[in-house]
Amino acid sequence: MSTLMNTYSRLPVEFTHGEGVWLYDTAGNAWLDALSGIAVCGLGHAHPALTKAISEQAGRLLHTSNIYHIGAQRQLADKLIAASGMDCVFFSNSGAEANEAAIKLARMHGHNKGIDLPTIIVFESSFHGRTLATLSATGNRKVQAGFGPLVKGFARAPFADLDAVKTIAKNNQNIVAVLVEPIQGEGGVHIPEPAFLDGLRELCDQNDWLLMLDEVQTGNGRTGKYFAYQHHNWLPDVVTTAKGLANGVPIGACLASGKATGLFGPGNHGSTFGGNPLACAAGIATIDTIINENYAEKALQMGDYIQQQLREKLAEQSIVKEIRGKGLLLGIELKHECTNLVQKALEKRLLINVTNGNVIRLLPPLIIQQAEADQLVAGVCQLINAFAQDMAESA
Ligand code: PLP
Repeated sequence: MSTLMNTYSRLPVEFTHGEGVWLYDTAGNAWLDALSGIAVCGLGHAHPALTKAISEQAGRLLHTSNIYHIGAQRQLADKLIAASGMDCVFFSNSGAEANEAAIKLARMHGHNKGIDLPTIIVFESSFHGRTLATLSATGNRKVQAGFGPLVKGFARAPFADLDAVKTIAKNNQNIVAVLVEPIQGEGGVHIPEPAFLDGLRELCDQNDWLLMLDEVQTGNGRTGKYFAYQHHNWLPDVVTTAKGLANGVPIGACLASGKATGLFGPGNHGSTFGGNPLACAAGIATIDTIINENYAEKALQMGDYIQQQLREKLAEQSIVKEIRGKGLLLGIELKHECTNLVQKALEKRLLINVTNGNVIRLLPPLIIQQAEADQLVAGVCQLINAFAQDMAESA
C-alpha cells in the first residue's frame, strides 16, 4: 500500500530532470512537455536564469518571516505592480491561497459597507482551488462532493452570461464582488466574448462591487500579455496569480488596485511562508525573463501558429468540434469523451491533458520553438486521427 494519500491517479512515468520543453524519465527517454506542470513552467525546465537565482539565494538565505522586512519580496512586488498596473500585493504559496485572500478582501469590502452576508458572484464550470472557500466558489460538483457544508456567500451564474449576472444583482442586495477566470482553463478552455468581461467591469463599477480576476492559469504571459485582462483597456480591482509566477517554486499573489487597496490592515491576513526570500528570488528571475525576452508576445505568436497548423491538418477530421485558445492556452474540443488520449499520448512520449471530458488541453512552455511546436502538432494530430479511426471501427 502506498504511503501517499490517494488524491491523484498518477500516470505511469517518473521524471528525473528536464531541459527546455523536454523532460527525461528514469530510463533516460525524452518526453515533449506540452503541459508545463499544468501551466507552471512557462520558461520550461532548468532555465539557467532561474537555476542561478535559486541557487544563489539558497546559499544566502531561505526564510526569515513576514514579521521582518524582506527585500526580495519588495522587489518582486514592484515588478508585479510595474507589469500589471495594480497598486499592491499580498504573497501566498498557491493559487487557492491567493484566491482565499481575494475572497477575504471581498468580504471586508462588504462589511465596510454594512453588508452582513457579503456574497460573491461566481460561475458554472469555474475552478478556483481546493480549500473550503475556493472549492465552494468552484463551479464543479465533483470538486465539492463529500466536503459539505460548503462555505456560504457565493451566488452562481452561467459563464459568459452577463444578463444572468444582472438578474442575480437585481434579486440580491448582498453582492460585493465578482470572481471570474478571464478564460476558464480547467472548465474546458472557454474563452468569453470580450464584451462579457467589459460588461462585468461596468457592472462592478455601477454597483460598487470588486471585479476579481482569477489569473492563476491565464497569468504570467500565457495568453499573450502578462495578465489576460491586459487584452482589455481597464484594470480589475483584484487579480490573483500563482502557477507561472516562479516557474515551479511555490508562490501565489493577490494584487489589489483602487478601492481594494486599503482593505487589509495588520492582523487581517498572513502566511508563514508567503513571499519568502527563496520563492521571491525565483519569482524575480521568472518575471524578468518573461518580460525582457518578450515571452508573452512570443506565446501569442506561437499559439496562433499552433492553432493554424492544427486547423489545417485537422480540417477533414469530423471528430473535431472546435479548436480554440489564446496564446499558449489551447483547447481542441472533440465530439466524444476522450480522456484516454492522455494515456495514448504517453505511448508517443507526449505530455498533454484532457479537461472537461472531451477537450484536449495544451499548455506548452512559453519558450517552445517552432520545430518543437511542429512535433507537438504532428503528435496531437496522429492521436486524434487514430482515436477517430478507433471510434469508427467500434461503431
Ligand atoms: N485558479 C485557477 C484558475 C486554477 O487553474 C487553479 C489550479 O488549477 C487554481 C486556482 C488553484 O491553484 P493551486 O492548485 O495552486 O491552489
